[in-house]
Amino acid sequence: MKGHISIDRERCKGCGLCVHFCPRQVITVSKDLNQKGYYPAEPVEAGEDAKGCNACTICGIVCPDVAIEVYRD
Ligand code: SF4
Ligand code: SF4
Repeated sequence: MKGHISIDRERCKGCGLCVHFCPRQVITVSKDLNQKGYYPAEPVEAGEDAKGCNACTICGIVCPDVAIEVYRD
């Protein structure tokens, strides 16, 4: 299954759980602070990872701030 995610960078507190638990390693930490002063998670740029998101929803489940939406493509 293929999918993609959307992360609300202003809700994210940069805890890194989604980065740690994504089995496809397609989430990384932004180099830019959000307005609250956290480095938010962001999807890895398209094309950088050949495997890609499989819409497993793990990131959305582990996120304590409900900042991630998962879509099936
Ligand atoms: S849905 Fe699964 S594969 Fe896709 S970004 Fe989230 S944890 Fe990674
Ligand atoms: S789990 Fe949620 S709050 Fe934590 S880094 Fe990921 S998107 Fe941000």
